[in-house]
Amino acid sequence: MKKVEQLYEGKAKKVYSTEDPNVVIVSYKDDATAFDGLKKGTITGKGAINNQMTNFLMQQLEKAGVPTHFVQELSERETAVKKVSIVPLEVIVRNISAGHFASNYGVKEGIVFDEPTIEFSYKNDDLHDPLINSYHAVALKLATWDEIALIKKYAFQVNDFLKKTLLECGVTLVDFKLEFGKTADGTIVLADEISPDTCRFWDAKTGEKLDKDRFRRDLGNVEGAYQEMARRLMGK
Ligand code: UDP
Repeated sequence: MKKVEQLYEGKAKKVYSTEDPNVVIVSYKDDATAFDGLKKGTITGKGAINNQMTNFLMQQLEKAGVPTHFVQELSERETAVKKVSIVPLEVIVRNISAGHFASNYGVKEGIVFDEPTIEFSYKNDDLHDPLINSYHAVALKLATWDEIALIKKYAFQVNDFLKKTLLECGVTLVDFKLEFGKTADGTIVLADEISPDTCRFWDAKTGEKLDKDRFRRDLGNVEGAYQEMARRLMGK
């Protein structure tokens, strides 16, 4: 499969068309941004790790009954995926308080919830991705009720799978963000990525952060944390 033309360049990925109208190629970059694009940097090797980790997890999720956009890994940092239109919702699942949950609601990080929570942000750069509820999402025609129900079901399935898989690697899954897409025939599939850029991972014993918070909060050893997650999960 070959790249034909660049369709899009985002903060962390480029997307190319292919000869197949239903398939695009994503190329993961080492660029990192945080705080609505205000903080910019490079995390060397991140693109390759995020690409391979996403593919590793999506292939297992597919087997566990969550349809994904994954088609074929092409190289260290490039993957062929189904062409989808992204549902403009960031779907965030949390098991433990952290990040915006802690700051928005005035609680400390690290409170373990009795059951996972789910929330949506409206993916809109001009509006800075505001929190949105399902009624608003339906009113804005971002998704239908049926699509939202399916997205919630898949998101909790992903949480169950990821929590268990990571715990076996000595990692606590704190929270994560998913994006879903719609294929040409209207099927909802898991899209985007599952990586230390989009999840919070804490070492199960020490609580050490093994994710993008090391970059956001200038904690040092950012590359080391991504490599450690790749080693624990995929043995490489
Ligand atoms: N997240 C993400 N992209 C975003 C916002 C959040 O991947 O644009 C992820 C983030 O890495 C974390 C989870 O979603 O694992 C919850 O993030 P939160 O809402 O606490 O916001 P943050 O503090 O990360 O900005």
